Amino acid sequence: MPDDKNLNLSPKSADSIAKTTCYMCACRCGINVHIKGDEIRYIEGNRDHPVNNGVLCAKGSAGIMQHLSPARLTAPLKRVGKRGEGKFEKISWEEAMEMATSWLKPIRETDPRKLAFFTGRDQSQALTGWWAQQFGTPNFAAHGGFCSVNMAAAGIYTIGGAFWEFGSPDWEKTELFLLFGVAEDHDSNPIKIGLGKLKDRGIRTVSINPVQTGYSAVADDWIGITPGTDGLFILSLIHVLMKTGQIDLDYLIRYTNAPWLVIRRPGSADDGLFWRDEHGQPQVLDHKTGKPVSAETAGIRPQLKGEIALPDGGVATPAFMLMAEDWLNDQHSPEVTEEKTGVPANRVYALADAIAEAAFKREVVIDQPWVDWKGEHHDKMIGRPVAMHAMRGISAHSNGFQTCRALHILQILIGSVETPGGFRFKPPYPKPAAIHPRPAGKPDQVKPSTPLPGAPLGYPMSPDDLLVDDKGRPVRIDKAYSWDAPLSAHGLMHMVISNAYAGDPYPVDVLFMYMANMAWNSSMNTRGVIDMLTETDPQTGEYRIPKIIYSDAYSSEMVAYADLILPDTTYLERHDCISLLDRPICEPDCVADAIRWPVVAPDRDVRGFQSALLDLGARLGLPGMVDADGKPLYRDYADYMTNHQRKPGIGPLAGFRGQSGKDHGRGDPNPDQIDAYIANGGFWSEELPENARYFKMANQHYQDFAVKMGFFDKPEPYSFQIYSEVLQKFQLAAQGHGNNQPPEHLRDRIKTCFTPLPQWYPPFEGDMVDQRTYPIHALTQRPMAMYHSWGSQNPWLRQIHGHNPLFIPAALARSLEVEEGDWVWVTSHHGKIKVPVAVMEGVNPHTVWTWNAIGKRRGGWQLDPDAPEARKGFLLNHLIHELLPMRGDGLRWSNSDPITGQAAWFDLKVNITKADAEDNATVEPTFPILGAPPGLEKPSSVLRYGDSIIARDKKENDQ
Ligand code: SF4
Repeated sequence: MPDDKNLNLSPKSADSIAKTTCYMCACRCGINVHIKGDEIRYIEGNRDHPVNNGVLCAKGSAGIMQHLSPARLTAPLKRVGKRGEGKFEKISWEEAMEMATSWLKPIRETDPRKLAFFTGRDQSQALTGWWAQQFGTPNFAAHGGFCSVNMAAAGIYTIGGAFWEFGSPDWEKTELFLLFGVAEDHDSNPIKIGLGKLKDRGIRTVSINPVQTGYSAVADDWIGITPGTDGLFILSLIHVLMKTGQIDLDYLIRYTNAPWLVIRRPGSADDGLFWRDEHGQPQVLDHKTGKPVSAETAGIRPQLKGEIALPDGGVATPAFMLMAEDWLNDQHSPEVTEEKTGVPANRVYALADAIAEAAFKREVVIDQPWVDWKGEHHDKMIGRPVAMHAMRGISAHSNGFQTCRALHILQILIGSVETPGGFRFKPPYPKPAAIHPRPAGKPDQVKPSTPLPGAPLGYPMSPDDLLVDDKGRPVRIDKAYSWDAPLSAHGLMHMVISNAYAGDPYPVDVLFMYMANMAWNSSMNTRGVIDMLTETDPQTGEYRIPKIIYSDAYSSEMVAYADLILPDTTYLERHDCISLLDRPICEPDCVADAIRWPVVAPDRDVRGFQSALLDLGARLGLPGMVDADGKPLYRDYADYMTNHQRKPGIGPLAGFRGQSGKDHGRGDPNPDQIDAYIANGGFWSEELPENARYFKMANQHYQDFAVKMGFFDKPEPYSFQIYSEVLQKFQLAAQGHGNNQPPEHLRDRIKTCFTPLPQWYPPFEGDMVDQRTYPIHALTQRPMAMYHSWGSQNPWLRQIHGHNPLFIPAALARSLEVEEGDWVWVTSHHGKIKVPVAVMEGVNPHTVWTWNAIGKRRGGWQLDPDAPEARKGFLLNHLIHELLPMRGDGLRWSNSDPITGQAAWFDLKVNITKADAEDNATVEPTFPILGAPPGLEKPSSVLRYGDSIIARDKKENDQ
């Protein structure tokens, strides 16, 4: 025993601190990683970082256990057993890359579409999308189609941005905060920090969510709405606000298309389009003269009412009149909507009053002069301090796009978008749909050995931009940008495997995926997807999806179903680039980006996926990845981050550019750029000028700043699109106008859903199944302490959520005679599961819910096959099919939003019955135990950090 006097009471915990970026969720907080020797000892928040100001959440601090996970893959693997058996052989990287090259090269030289390249929640889409483009395949997307594309696309098409990565509530100035359908992992630290600020100032928060957990549990008011009716609820708020005249008319006139004249000539090919002059400029009625002028004319005051006869017949009226006709209609009155939404009319009136009171009686005024894009000077910035935030809850329905549009329109009507106290854009947003690229991949754009002429993902502006063949059939494997889902800005990842399996619209040769656990929690119809991945063609004996390449850092369930595994590093062992070309970490007042860098070296034969992808690109000779002699242009991802230029002066990282490292935004590559980021704490940021901080869509100071930084090459001011001409163009096509016509079976659906002003329609699944058989809504959400499937294998986080019960409302529990700990059968039109139950009060009376992606397949993730995640954890995915029930015409539609293709996870309807009591109950369905790939560490039975380190420290202290 050491002498007590010599006991070291302050042992050195670290030799160094490395500042990098967290990847335990998608918020990308700054972290300080304490390192001793070659071991990570402790992670804390970086106090200087613009995203988190030092705040670290449970996930972030548990990153150390993610890094040490026994499920980490250790070397490239080649499948040697059958798919699903988990039998692999370790191979060298050279062999792995040669194998991948030999599979991909012939495809590129003959038919690049035969590669489907899809990624999960990775943070390198600026690279992966470019790689797909250079390969020449249109079949690329990331996970957005099954996450929240409705939120993102509705935002871009309506206001030029959306929540979270595109914008933020004005936490410092808002007077009322509304949260709609927010999952607890979207977003994380920034929302918690913001809610803390609101609590400090005593600001009221209202949560509209079927489930009262997380942020809803700390809200001042909770409105337990019926799932899928948020759009109807929002339209009833709009109805009340319009009816009582509590909207911001000046804001509508200045910053929106409400005054733009809409052609009203029923039956004609231009009915419902904007009336434009010969230069294509939309027209408004000048209040002074009553005459039509271009909406861009400076010094005019456009009318919101009126009508003008058109020279060639019909009339044109301001879009505002159509808004009034639609939304003042009694079908939107709270008395009519309350039955469907479950929100009593008096609560709608009370909330509308609260919104109006905060917006118009507590307006925020900043004494900051600014100039708008028409050259008009404003001596103040005046704001309507009502802020809102929404996420997957309102998005993952088949009516989600129009719901999300309605929410943005509610914000616009009270003048709270990009004004003090409201919702604020984060640079490089706002960026309206019109200045985003159109998707590339039309039939004549896909050619052997040739890059696509543009990015595979983009924003269509009319049926002319669809990716369909001359018969109107889809040309992408996920049928994105076809009549099935015209505005599918993030693709339809949830349809890739089933379409590839069915060879519809064509078979693929190679499915290449990264970080997407499609054989388990990321797929609807999990068992069906497993069957599709393993089924062979009886004629050839070959798998229906012949070759699957998969990259992941961990032994997820998907690994067993791939043929070639490219093992990724953990986030602390790699370079990464949180780029302005992708979804950056900017705040409303500052532009910022960040890096990850290897704060410790990998101790396994693994490589960062992005470096492997660039190597593969070079081996395939992809343009931009090789020089004139065919030699690789980039050593690895770090080299690409430093030297790649998307156009002259614009690279993946905006900070410390130019030979001197003093340029920002635009500038030549700087060989020392990554070192400059590391020295600066892993990020770069630059404050916006004071006069550029609000009204960014119309603010000349901001527009000039955006051009200087390289966001645009010229100022791109615009008006918010309350009335969507884009949707009207699809509506007109469905009515039979134009050369590009939808197939007959989709015509009526387009007429119903593609309304230029948002309308509510019932979610598809709920409308198609029998309400008496399946009367209950079923939802999932991720818990605050976990993110996707990674978190639920993390030894520390497993101690917070080791399994997931089905939470059911107390009244429903009583009627089923079910108590906490009992088991129930849950059935849908597609499947049946047996699960444990927990009873709660704070949930909509017709809704049950559970945490998603905690349930693991036995043998996956190097967990004990009898781990609680496998025995008492479950997925609702088994109940959800990627197709809706059969329709009367014998067709089955995709279980998606018909506008964007967003996976409609939350439309699920179920029935619940009590299961027989039995000991040692296990969830059903069960699956065979997965075999572990070779090389994985044996997991410790003790869920704590570094037994060996603790022993060594003790020895050091004792000496
Ligand atoms: S919020 Fe996300 S990025 Fe931030 S510390 Fe937590 S896990 Fe990491």
